[in-house]
Amino acid sequence: MSLAAEPAPTPTDEFAQSAQLAYPDLAPAPASVRVLRRDAGARTTRALRTLGACWGLAVAAVFLPLLHFVLVPGLLVLGPVLAWSRLHEAHSLLRAEGPCPACAVPQRFKLGQRWRERTLVRCEACGRSLELQLPAEPGA
Ligand SMILES: [Zn+2]
Repeated sequence: MSLAAEPAPTPTDEFAQSAQLAYPDLAPAPASVRVLRRDAGARTTRALRTLGACWGLAVAAVFLPLLHFVLVPGLLVLGPVLAWSRLHEAHSLLRAEGPCPACAVPQRFKLGQRWRERTLVRCEACGRSLELQLPAEPGA
């Protein structure tokens, strides 16, 4: 066993996850989802950046007449809330591809969200609301 042959761990890692697109009363269609995995260090960096951005904007908002009554406390509270959320977002869904189960036209969806078992998307060809279904955990 050689340590040199093992790939170096990366803070973020993109991979494909199989999923399915579902529409009521029709057979689900297979889909593929690109997922971004973040390790603890990358999540911490992202959370601290979010916190810094919100609190930085709060400091800048102090100089805005009248708006500072809403913006400063709002941004001071929003910063930790968003940072907490990003700190626990280990897997982000980037985009999904697959045929619509109703009209069979290939679809591409930009997601940009945390891992969710069920996400509603809309087919651009037929306008139907589809459900993108993922396993509870990545890799399942
Ligand atoms: Zn469709």
